Amino acid sequence: MSDIYDFNGKNYCVVTYGCQMNLHESEKISGILDNMGMSAVQSPEAADVVVFNTCCIRDTAERRALGNIGKMKELKKKNKNLLVVVTGCMTQQNGFAENLKERYQYVDVILGTHNISDLENKLREKVARKKRIASVLDTDGYIDDETTPVTRTSFPNAWVNINYGCNNFCTYCIVPYVRGRERSRTPESIIAECEKLIKDGYKEITLLGQNVNSYGNDFGDPDVNFSDLLRSVAEIEGKFRIRFMTSHPKDFTSDVVKAIKSSDKICNNIHLPVQAGSNSVLKNMNRRYTREHYMSLIDMIRDEIPDAGITTDIMVGFPYETEDDFQDTLDLVRRVRFSTAFTFIYSVRKGTKAADMPQIPYEIKQDRIKRLIALQNEITEELSKAYLGNTYEVLIEGTNEKKKGFVSGRTESGRLVSAPGDENLIGQFVNIRIDKCKNAQLTGEII
Ligand code: SF4
Repeated sequence: MSDIYDFNGKNYCVVTYGCQMNLHESEKISGILDNMGMSAVQSPEAADVVVFNTCCIRDTAERRALGNIGKMKELKKKNKNLLVVVTGCMTQQNGFAENLKERYQYVDVILGTHNISDLENKLREKVARKKRIASVLDTDGYIDDETTPVTRTSFPNAWVNINYGCNNFCTYCIVPYVRGRERSRTPESIIAECEKLIKDGYKEITLLGQNVNSYGNDFGDPDVNFSDLLRSVAEIEGKFRIRFMTSHPKDFTSDVVKAIKSSDKICNNIHLPVQAGSNSVLKNMNRRYTREHYMSLIDMIRDEIPDAGITTDIMVGFPYETEDDFQDTLDLVRRVRFSTAFTFIYSVRKGTKAADMPQIPYEIKQDRIKRLIALQNEITEELSKAYLGNTYEVLIEGTNEKKKGFVSGRTESGRLVSAPGDENLIGQFVNIRIDKCKNAQLTGEII
């Protein structure tokens, strides 16, 4: 490969693992590569540059990524000019980049989570110096949201980062180690980005942070806080929706609920991860709230916004979890009646405190998750029936991949709805009368 290698006109493929945060970061990676004159392709086989944007939240995600990175060895034999980049949470772990560089000789550039904005420079440096590069910063860095180009892939929704990093150190979670401490963007910069997105025709903005409720705490200015940010974004002219994730029960305030109530644009959909219904498990997880506090938040939300869609994350099989603890979780689920819940089996994450705690047998975890899913499905199905015959405003997000001739979108409260229609409806607000329900799926007619 010569040092006058021209990226212009070449193809790239970004392979993404993990959460919304990573999906949005991949949009920034694509933005940088598009800006270099390259074009996106769907398969690594057709690409000149392959970027793996990795996740390390679970061992399985990490193993899957490493397996796919391993396949690049054969691809590189066929295409000597192929450049392989690995970035994301996996590379930011202690000692990981050095190990990867040593063991995967065909990886050309390794970047951490704090310097993705540097991708163009590092690619050009690799080509010019004909040297493999591993650049992972120890200090908390920023993706420069003001200057990093973004190629958005989620129209009519647009993700907007409001803060990076996390200060909470839940004992099962690697995020604070690989994403650093909380750093908030200024309200001015967030609002400017949102204004531009609305002007460009986006119909939904999802404000993103590991813990959106602690937005602004690092500024030490009480006037910079999450509920005021929500209100300011809602003041932008135009018809659009605002969603946000993720909330932390210890920092969630009634003021956020008041902000939701104050504007039709802020969706009445609150994702409030509870993780467990037992105080002793919550303590072992270092979640820093109790079951009673969580229930008081639910009561407060329901008093203010009776039709709010409350969703959650629940983990079963955490170290020391007894059958009684698990019964507390089932009891909380019965009381709250979440619209939907993301349920997980706890899996050991090396480098976290919980990895050193005594683990409980896999069969017990499996039995518990089955019982939890069965209960939540029952609740979701019962709640779904209440939608029958009613009409809801839905923002159409795309065609339904499983049902030809159908489109789907979400109600304000976050329920997924399908109806007959075509791609011309994507990005439009329509009214749908619900006439069928099956588990979490609602189907209706556009009226
Ligand atoms: S709040 Fe807890 S679970 Fe969420 S990112 Fe921070 S440490 Fe991880």
